[in-house]
Amino acid sequence: MDDILNPIAPRNPAQHVASGNALSEDSEVSKQTHVEDAEYIPLPSRGVFYTWDPKFWNLEQLLVRQLNYSDEDILTTKSYFDNGTIYNELLKNVIVDENKFPATGLIPVDRDTMLLWLRSKAFGEIFNIELTCPKCDEHIPVSWNLSELNIPTYDETVYEELKQNGEYRIITPLKQLGVKLIVPTIGKSMETEKMLAQKKIATKDTKDFYGTGSLMMIISGIEVDGKVIRNKNEIQNYFKKINLPLSDARYIRKQAEKLSLRYETKKNVQCTNCKHIEEGVEMPIVHPNFFWADMGL
Ligand SMILES: [Zn+2]
Repeated sequence: MDDILNPIAPRNPAQHVASGNALSEDSEVSKQTHVEDAEYIPLPSRGVFYTWDPKFWNLEQLLVRQLNYSDEDILTTKSYFDNGTIYNELLKNVIVDENKFPATGLIPVDRDTMLLWLRSKAFGEIFNIELTCPKCDEHIPVSWNLSELNIPTYDETVYEELKQNGEYRIITPLKQLGVKLIVPTIGKSMETEKMLAQKKIATKDTKDFYGTGSLMMIISGIEVDGKVIRNKNEIQNYFKKINLPLSDARYIRKQAEKLSLRYETKKNVQCTNCKHIEEGVEMPIVHPNFFWADMGL
């Protein structure tokens, strides 16, 4: 294998994986590894939402292989990048778990964890972008060290409930409605977004429906007369019937944030030219430099 011919990381030493050393970093989990250049990646969600298949529920890790030359076709397909499906296509390839976990079944934090690992292995841990200063248009260099990002975790009590039930129960303050919350998979989110966009076209509505749409995505059920309603249309009809107050809807969203783990990447960036400080710049994973790194070569 001639690494110079490798189009993904032409000169990156991390790609010299044929030696087998790539697996040595996390020896505890990698002992079970059979696929070359693959590692068990710990899932921050600990599989609590993967309830749709008993094999996957509370699954704590997935076997993922490193990027190789065969992924280049995906990484160079512009339409995948433009329509936002590129990482899904990539993950379809690299998740090599024998249980055949579907890439669309991941929730965002687990997907991001895999992408961070793939990126670190292929291009190293330093991720550089240029931010355009909103005040003076200067290009400001911003850099993240991926190895310094902390893996997000649930509060222990939240985790215990999710592990038991696969959803998190809350009571809304005004209507005292029992609501069960989840984190939707990437696949479900993509489906819903498509559906909402079509609904907007079909109804010639100027509203985006993303408010109610995203609310429906995080609600897995509501408790009515001692029963749990899980059908999304029935849930929506019930909300209409009781005229769910805005503050209850906001409370539901606020509570759902407890379930939505994410990497904390925000930093304040000062413009080198006009000294303007741009606050809370988040690391963009869907960015041309993430897998198409300018290696500075
Ligand atoms: Zn500036």
